[in-house]
Amino acid sequence: MHDHLLNKISYLNQTTVDSLRETDEKKIIRRFAESSIRIMGADFGFVWLNRKSTDANNFQLVYKSRGIPYTPKSPRPRGTTQKVIKTRKPLLVADLLNSSYLRKDANKHLKSLAIIPIVYKSQVYGSFYVCFKKKHVFTDEEKSLAEFIGTDAGQVITIHLFHKKAEKDSQKLLKQKDEFFNIASHELKTPVAAIKGFVQLLNQKVGRRDPESAYFLDKINTHTEKLSRLVNDLLDISRIETGKLKFKKSPFELCELLEEVVESMRVALPHNPIFFTCHNLFWLKGDCNHIERVLINLITNASKYSPVGSKIKVSLEKEGAKAKVSIEDFGIGISEKDRQKIFNRFFQSKENISNTALPGLGLGLYISKEILKRHKGELRVESKSKSKGSVFSFTLPYDKYRNN
Ligand code: ADP
Repeated sequence: MHDHLLNKISYLNQTTVDSLRETDEKKIIRRFAESSIRIMGADFGFVWLNRKSTDANNFQLVYKSRGIPYTPKSPRPRGTTQKVIKTRKPLLVADLLNSSYLRKDANKHLKSLAIIPIVYKSQVYGSFYVCFKKKHVFTDEEKSLAEFIGTDAGQVITIHLFHKKAEKDSQKLLKQKDEFFNIASHELKTPVAAIKGFVQLLNQKVGRRDPESAYFLDKINTHTEKLSRLVNDLLDISRIETGKLKFKKSPFELCELLEEVVESMRVALPHNPIFFTCHNLFWLKGDCNHIERVLINLITNASKYSPVGSKIKVSLEKEGAKAKVSIEDFGIGISEKDRQKIFNRFFQSKENISNTALPGLGLGLYISKEILKRHKGELRVESKSKSKGSVFSFTLPYDKYRNN
């Protein structure tokens, strides 16, 4: 094979590879159109797309090369373009003047023309028009190349459309999931609140007299609390989605809040020692109930994804104009790949799920991130190599601070 031809084939392959990375259909078309002009040694070109190949009125001019000397007219219902679409084979016309293919609008500007249909199986998406100002006699190699251009472009567009559809379907599924959880959580809210109330009443009535019943009631209470947190998370998801998550902001001091939360988490998570350091006091304005929720969520995760006995370090320090809270654990850690997706709603690492007896719904980090965003703060996960644990940290702008 000639080097010349090899170069052209590898150029086309490169175009295919580059196009597969594109997320915009027009850019895919442009890449192939420019590549076909170059490969065929032509002067200019344009592209008509027609998804519904049966509908002749549905053509769209999606690309014109720079310096094109005239504006092409839309293909006619029984014109050459339709014929090419029917045969699904490139049409190469070396001598336009003496052919039946020439249209008046073009006759001053081109002498030879290649119409290359963009095909995938029985589907034809449209055609590349590769135009020559001077007469060009097509070689057999060019005939094969024209066919490759059309089928390569057809395959890339098919893959692109497939991805687009999959993405749309998954968005739709996510929406249905949201709707379902929204209804379910509203329905669950009242009975869960009722159970909580009656357990408290029962505890007051029999708890003091009967320690065994008190023990069971305590267990029911713990699980009802969990259930209630899940229901709240689900309700918050729909509030976030509909922009209805409300905050009651007032001034509070962050170190004090952290101390309180750490204190109660030490009781709730007795199997993981929690260390706390705070070098500064920070006064800020925010919804401390929601910030408390973020802390509980991050510390609970730190324990959930760590072995029994493994420590958790909570610290508060100054980072420029912001207070920075870090929660470090020495548990199973998060892979690089998962770190990209960890803040998406309903995301749960497949690797981590089997490691915990307490799988959640993959909502905590998503809600925490949103809460912090609404406080002009930021939640990040800092990298640590796998199995060495994780560090989650968040920043919040403060109004005032002093050394502790
Ligand atoms: P949940 O814990 O309820 O699944 P989250 O949104 O809080 O939901 O966390 C999402 C996912 O991130 C978890 O399923 C887990 O895979 C991973 N993850 C969160 N925190 C940690 C951590 N400290 N260590 C390891 N993995 C974590």
